[in-house]
Amino acid sequence: MQVFVATEATQGAHAHDRMNGIGGELVWLLEPCRACWCYPDGRCTCGRMFSGLSSFRETSTAVVSEVPGLTREDLERAMRGFVRARRDLFCCDEHSYTTAIDNLIGQAALWPVGTVLGRRGHVLLPRGIVPADSARL
Ligand SMILES: [Zn+2]
Repeated sequence: MQVFVATEATQGAHAHDRMNGIGGELVWLLEPCRACWCYPDGRCTCGRMFSGLSSFRETSTAVVSEVPGLTREDLERAMRGFVRARRDLFCCDEHSYTTAIDNLIGQAALWPVGTVLGRRGHVLLPRGIVPADSARL
């Protein structure tokens, strides 16, 4: 399955770049808050960062990776762990949680493996391509 994972690739290309996650960890996109919609480059970072499902830390860059054997159920378990651990970040009912997983899988499938992306709200911005071997886990 294709997913987004944290990467150092292209870090430093933008003023707000930050990589506090673990390279190669699964990441997802928190729903941007109102402040981020109004001021995408403001203090709150939720609309321009990817959230690490293991470290609970943020990165401004993710790469599309093919993770052999990873299933939707695996991703759902990882996201459930994140939600349980970080309830402070959002209020999420079962419907929106399922939708978030579907959106994540659907978005990752749209890009070739190795595509490095940044984000602005719901918009994913391609930054470049890394060799597919380095994006394969
Ligand atoms: Zn925010």
